Amino acid sequence: MHLSPLANAIVEPATLLMARRCRELRAQGRDIIDLSLGEPDHAPPAFALEAAHEALRGPWHKYPPVNGFADVRQAIAHKFKRDNGLDYTADQVVISTGAKHSIMNVVMSLCGPGDEVVIPAPYWVSYSEQVRLAGATPVLVTSTLEEDWKAPVERIAAAITSRTRLLMFSSPCNPSGSVLSRAELEALAEVVARHKDLYVIADEIYEHIVFEGAHVSFASLPGMAERTITVNGLSKAFALTGWRVGYIGAPLWIAQACTKVQGQFTSGTNSIAQRVAKACVEADPALLEPMKADFLRRRDLTIAALGKIPGWRCNKPQGAFYLLPDVRASIDGKTIKGSVDLSLYLLDTVGVSLVEGKSFGAEGTLRISYATSDANLIEAMARIAQGVARLNNA
Ligand code: PMP
Repeated sequence: MHLSPLANAIVEPATLLMARRCRELRAQGRDIIDLSLGEPDHAPPAFALEAAHEALRGPWHKYPPVNGFADVRQAIAHKFKRDNGLDYTADQVVISTGAKHSIMNVVMSLCGPGDEVVIPAPYWVSYSEQVRLAGATPVLVTSTLEEDWKAPVERIAAAITSRTRLLMFSSPCNPSGSVLSRAELEALAEVVARHKDLYVIADEIYEHIVFEGAHVSFASLPGMAERTITVNGLSKAFALTGWRVGYIGAPLWIAQACTKVQGQFTSGTNSIAQRVAKACVEADPALLEPMKADFLRRRDLTIAALGKIPGWRCNKPQGAFYLLPDVRASIDGKTIKGSVDLSLYLLDTVGVSLVEGKSFGAEGTLRISYATSDANLIEAMARIAQGVARLNNA
């Protein structure tokens, strides 16, 4: 049994690992509440499913173009204009098998051995591993709960060297829910403008889940369209995680490179899913308001419950559907050595699945996904409180 150095070097995403454990424990008959997966519990909109039925009747059963059907890319270009004020042509859009795939294409297109990628932490688990898959080096920039989990711009600037090819972040952020304000994005743009070979992956997959103020696209800031790859997809806004559609808008030369890379990996994205994507990006985003209202209510309900757990501290994030409490008070360094131990303890003893924060670059935290019913959240928080109380009394 001989695996490649690459396969040996990368790790299974912590999010998927917890999802797998949940499935295994449930198969054994255990009652598990899963707050580990970044997946809306809502049903997909009816029009999206209708589009899938319609597509089955249409001429969509052969290989699609590698970068996506022209009319779907055009619809995505319109969406970028309508929602984000961005001027991408259809040729600057590449459709891929999930935003995860979109990001991998970009990283592989721009980075290789010797290159550095600056990633403000906490960050989405796959960023660092994808950078390492490409042979490049992730450079993590830390932040704290007191900073609202947003690394100050000076700290990001200090991490950029002549080797830095990429800066990548999500706003709203997975795992912290933090949303970068226009002023914060502008300050970041000033830093980016100082380095002519630096590009930015702006992962905007949670753009429609912002509770206060408006989402700002990094590429819409002066001079940043030429430097930015804007990432988005269907998974979060349309609750279509299983259909696997992501897309980018990018400078043409980067879009072309991504198409070349994708042409050797997967070819074009599933044709029926692409037809669904067209219906989704053409839909009025106002349709998503009820889902957002659910998330806001659940955020507040979960924060209130967290406030009752001794020693746990949490901020009030403005977007996505995650909380990242600082749980160091429950880490004693002996029975519970770190956040990984704490997540396993809670899963084993009270049947609640959370993702440990270490994989997101935030040791001492746990990520709570509140994309589940109010009843589940209330029960899960009560169980966590019990589990923590037992630890404190041990
Ligand atoms: N970026 C972020 C920040 C995410 O949270 C996720 C999903 N968890 C993705 C990208 C990947 O989304 P997709 O399902 O489209 O691959």
